[in-house]
Amino acid sequence: MKLTDLRVRNDYLNLDEEFYHRVKPRPLKNPRLLSHSPDAAALLGLDPSALDRGHLQALLNGETFCEGSDPYAMCYAGHQFGFYVPRLGDGRAINIGTANGWHMQLKGAGQTRYSRQGDGRAVLRSSVREYLLSEAMDGLGIPTSRALALIGSDEEIARERWETGAIVLRLSPSWIRFGSFEYFYHKRKYAKLEALADFVIAESYPELQDEEDRYFLMAEKITERTAALMADWQAVGFNHGVMNTDNMSIAGLTIDYGPYAFLDHYDIDYVCNHTDTEGRYSFGNQPYIGQWNLSRLMVALSPLVQQERMEALLERFRSLYTDAYARKMGAKLGLERELPEDRMLLRSLLKLMQEQAVDYTPFFRALSRYDGDPTPLEGLFLLPSALHTWLETYDARLKEETRSTQTRHAAMLATNPKYVLKNYMLQEAIDRAEAGDPSGIETLLRLARDPYGEHPDCERYAGATPQQFRSIQLSCSS
Ligand code: AMP
Ligand code: MG
Repeated sequence: MKLTDLRVRNDYLNLDEEFYHRVKPRPLKNPRLLSHSPDAAALLGLDPSALDRGHLQALLNGETFCEGSDPYAMCYAGHQFGFYVPRLGDGRAINIGTANGWHMQLKGAGQTRYSRQGDGRAVLRSSVREYLLSEAMDGLGIPTSRALALIGSDEEIARERWETGAIVLRLSPSWIRFGSFEYFYHKRKYAKLEALADFVIAESYPELQDEEDRYFLMAEKITERTAALMADWQAVGFNHGVMNTDNMSIAGLTIDYGPYAFLDHYDIDYVCNHTDTEGRYSFGNQPYIGQWNLSRLMVALSPLVQQERMEALLERFRSLYTDAYARKMGAKLGLERELPEDRMLLRSLLKLMQEQAVDYTPFFRALSRYDGDPTPLEGLFLLPSALHTWLETYDARLKEETRSTQTRHAAMLATNPKYVLKNYMLQEAIDRAEAGDPSGIETLLRLARDPYGEHPDCERYAGATPQQFRSIQLSCSS
């Protein structure tokens, strides 16, 4: 299908008007299409090879619309850094319709009723980051919103310095957040709360539609998906940075990419968000925050589900998470069986990696070819003797496995990515894009879509992060 033939739906507009604000995107000055993702285009049923770039650019810039489009911003609330904010909403994101089950949203398309003090815009820097990570997380097999394309412009935007405006066309099967439920609960509008739950079930959990117990079962599904997502983040070494309840998807997806980071060296206390002075959203806290955020959702759902049942659900989160994490880490270590001693094996490895500031992604990639010779791993350690001690236990543990070394290596190479988009890599692409050369974005998109593959021209990105670029903290301004 061609972009010009795309017809969209707007089912969210069937809800009461308090749920949204109809608003048109506002075009940027001198837009230019910087990149698009053929894989994301295919999700909409578009033929990626026949994509009309001019039309795509006009769509992102709000100069043209798909047939059936009726643009709107969504209303929600949320707990930001632990404190309740009664109204947030899409302050700079505008939905332009749903195609093939994917809600298309323009981020940075101008002010809405929910903009508060904001200008409704997004700068190029943060838009490149959101665009690439949306595609990268999917490439890594982690549930996420997606991104179809990115435009830059000459529109001047005031942040800490003057920057230029950009728009990402992002896609998600749902843009409903924990904070969407909180909004109606805290206003005591329980009929609308129920209408929202019915909408979420119809759209994201249709298999529950005829269940009498559907609201509880929906809470259970959200809990399960959130636990699985936290395990994905911890296993891959991803720090989201702003886990406010308005940034938590009811479909269990990674959404709202801000000052995120992949770990350079393993550090449980790493905080990517410069504004998070207390480390609330540190790498190691993420699973606990996931659970705390679920507890806020459960409060919001309390008019629909018995409180004790939800408390039991929250209790279950812990084992759901730890089991999923243990499974994922077992796979990263190349262990097919699950044995009780594996937790100690993992704990001692992570302790060692923390102490010796071992780069997380390259270590597991190198381990994926380990055949008894420690040499390829040694360069990642300050004092390889501690590595040798750990490898003795690992060697003994591998003897309990039945797979051949070759089969184990193949499985590990498909589990431990060679490429994650670390901040210094993104910054290089951003610096070049800001100077007028978007080709770095295309290179990173290629790595994003195939993180387990070999990319000989990008070998320098596969090793440990250069010392001067380690553990950068990012400002929240975007
Ligand atoms: P975030 O933490 O980026 O997900 O944003 C939190 C809230 O602030 C959301 O309601 C956003 O829509 C809003 N927001 C962030 N930046 C802007 C902006 N430049 N203009 C308007 N609203 C914004
Ligand atoms: Mg947000």
